[in-house]
Amino acid sequence: MILDFSKNNGLIPTIIQDYQTQQVLMLGYMNEEALQKTLKENIVTFFSRSKNRLWTKGETSGNYLKVVSIKEDCDQDTLLIKVIPSGPTCHNGTTSCFADETPLPFLNQLEQVIEDRIANQNANSYVASLLQKGINKIAQKVGEEAVELVIEAKDNNKDLFLKEAADLLFHYLLLLKAKGFGLTDVETILKSRMKNG
Ligand code: AMP
Ligand code: ZN
Ligand code: ZN
Ligand code: ZN
Repeated sequence: MILDFSKNNGLIPTIIQDYQTQQVLMLGYMNEEALQKTLKENIVTFFSRSKNRLWTKGETSGNYLKVVSIKEDCDQDTLLIKVIPSGPTCHNGTTSCFADETPLPFLNQLEQVIEDRIANQNANSYVASLLQKGINKIAQKVGEEAVELVIEAKDNNKDLFLKEAADLLFHYLLLLKAKGFGLTDVETILKSRMKNG
């Protein structure tokens, strides 16, 4: 594939389309290095103009784009990549950046990321490493984070208190997921207790 990287500061606009549904998912930019990495790994890597570095879509969310085909346009200055997405492509939690579905609430997005890590345990991530150590280790982490929160509750450092509150919620979610449950299961119980409220 010979591409014309000269027109746009070395960047090629790259349209990402769902291979199965044909839905346009997002637009990103590729420099030569991003394209090489994408071809090598079969997972889409862009050049991020805001991060000013290579950006593998899904590197933090787990929502990678698996390459099915790559095609250049008539004058070799634009790419169309058909992909199989491993989750919502937009960071707002919608399937496509151009979709107007209601974005998922953040905690549900986080649940999806955790589910993805459970499905892809080769991923080189903190979550994957905890999962490999097993339920007991995750439960122990929940206990530790709870104790840290209790300690910070006695102090007056607002930042540390909130940080530990976030740590606890994250590990709590992870434990729920690792046991095969989710927030909706807990919600059901909490709702049933509101009968009189
Ligand atoms: P991700 O690559 O999915 O792990 O997301 C990492 C970061 O990239 C997010 O926090 C967003 O800042 C940004 N991002 C993710 N997906 C998109 C997207 N579809 N369009 C633009 N920016 C995105
Ligand atoms: Zn063109
Ligand atoms: Zn988006
Ligand atoms: Zn902590």
